[in-house]
Amino acid sequence: MANRRNFIKTSALAAAAVVTQMPKVMAEENKRINKPLTVKPIVISTWKFGIEANEEAWKILANSGRALDAVETGVKIIEGNMKERSVGLGGRPDRDGHVTLDACIMDEYANIGSVACLEHIKHPVSVARAVMEKTPHVMLVGDGALQFALSQGFIKEKGVIEETQKEWKEWLKTSNYKPQANIENHDTIGMIAMDANGNFSGACTTSGLGYKMHGRVGDSPIIGAGLFVDNEVGAATATGHGEEVIRIAGCHTVVELMRQGKSPQQACEEAVARIVRITKGRGKNLKDIQVGFIAINQNGQYGAYCVQSGFNYAVHNDAGNNLIDSDFFMK
Ligand code: ASP
Repeated sequence: MANRRNFIKTSALAAAAVVTQMPKVMAEENKRINKPLTVKPIVISTWKFGIEANEEAWKILANSGRALDAVETGVKIIEGNMKERSVGLGGRPDRDGHVTLDACIMDEYANIGSVACLEHIKHPVSVARAVMEKTPHVMLVGDGALQFALSQGFIKEKGVIEETQKEWKEWLKTSNYKPQANIENHDTIGMIAMDANGNFSGACTTSGLGYKMHGRVGDSPIIGAGLFVDNEVGAATATGHGEEVIRIAGCHTVVELMRQGKSPQQACEEAVARIVRITKGRGKNLKDIQVGFIAINQNGQYGAYCVQSGFNYAVHNDAGNNLIDSDFFMK
């Protein structure tokens, strides 16, 4: 026993010595890819509006509530804000003038629900939750999703608001569809959380790319692309050009990389690297693409990475609610 104790003591000292002798660059790299462990709970979400959404989610998490309730409540704040041009009914319409919404939700038991191309409903994430909890299916789209929502007591709202209709009419003059990186024609709220019991959930909701083709569905309502949760590993969510996220089954990829032992930061970087390789291989210009991933693992570590500068995310843990600029590939 004494020997074992000595062994443990010596190994601990040796490990400490390695850390102190670690060259500065290596220590910095280590710090960058291994963000500090935090105590449960934690919630993180995409973009600046994540701060506001996190606040709401935190009220639930801080009271030992379930991560599922926290993420739904959090993203609803952004869905309900008619000033947001990329989420909810305040979002930009498609090229035919319809605001079509995509959302999904996933819990710690791998229960999933999703809606795509849903019109006239203020809170698509709650319809996604109803699909998850009240139907034998996992995804409803278009008119079927709307009819289901109405049957569940959701109110049919006006489709497109005056301001975005005006902008759309202007856009029609040229009808030039070119989603640009970091220009305000896209942004999704993706939120992932681990609650005080160590359980994960996530939600993702968007109006998609402004002036997209009618019927276009992005990554956000697709489980495995815009969102993935695995209670044994962690969770990830995405924002940016959905087509590129779908191409690599983005968030499932991030979670699987974490399962293989990568930190959330390393996993997000590897997924972005894959998008970069594929984009180049397809002869496309990387400058035209933005994708950002955020991820958390069971240790409460978080990470984020994106193709090019401009993406930020909000982290709420016991240290407070902070907006962080994501590291990026195109330096
Ligand atoms: N990922 C969303 C989509 O492609 C848009 C975004 O996040 O900006 O629909």
